[in-house]
Amino acid sequence: MLATHNPGKLREMRELLVPFGIETVSAGELALAEPEESGTTFAANARAKAVSAAIASGMPAFADDSGLAADALGGEPGIYSARWAGPEKDFRRAMEMVEEKLRQRGALAPAQRRAHFISALCVAWPDGHTEEFEADVDGSLLWPPRGDQGFGYDPMFLPDGHTRTFGEMTSEEKHALPPRGQGLSHRARAFLKLAEACLGRH
Ligand code: IMP
Repeated sequence: MLATHNPGKLREMRELLVPFGIETVSAGELALAEPEESGTTFAANARAKAVSAAIASGMPAFADDSGLAADALGGEPGIYSARWAGPEKDFRRAMEMVEEKLRQRGALAPAQRRAHFISALCVAWPDGHTEEFEADVDGSLLWPPRGDQGFGYDPMFLPDGHTRTFGEMTSEEKHALPPRGQGLSHRARAFLKLAEACLGRH
């Protein structure tokens, strides 16, 4: 089962599991409560979500804890990436907050606007066993945001070596899975590590 209540993430996690023929239900579909994210790292939050969902559902559970880290902001919003969007989950507002803080620090040139998406993935079994994987993708932050695909901070993130933001890419391009690609997004790269370690394929 997929331990997430975030629709953008749920869609991506489902797409990333398709090649393995794994059928999934989500925490939302099982009406499981959304756990508090009280950890201080992506990995700790992913583990907490996966373990609580595995115990509650009696099934192996996948969780991703992820976020955007801007170098000029000392790694913010980081593990608080979802919270910056407030209770209304308004990511336009969250992107504006990132932009305001970058400007306050005088970070206007691309070299000062380096950022990374990070994904910590945890698979937990109902007996408490876990497997954990983490991956990231480097890029820079653009203003104004571009594109309406993807979710969260995608429209302001330009991955290194590309001319279009994640918000301008289809999810296939954002994942860039083999055999055509080698994994582009932080989440796709973490899933590839998981696939190599647990699912016997890559
Ligand atoms: P959490 O892992 O549920 O705490 O939420 C992570 C938050 O980070 C999401 O709500 C998004 O705002 C942001 N985020 C994580 N991955 C992505 C991504 O692939 N694109 C855009 N934003 C992301």
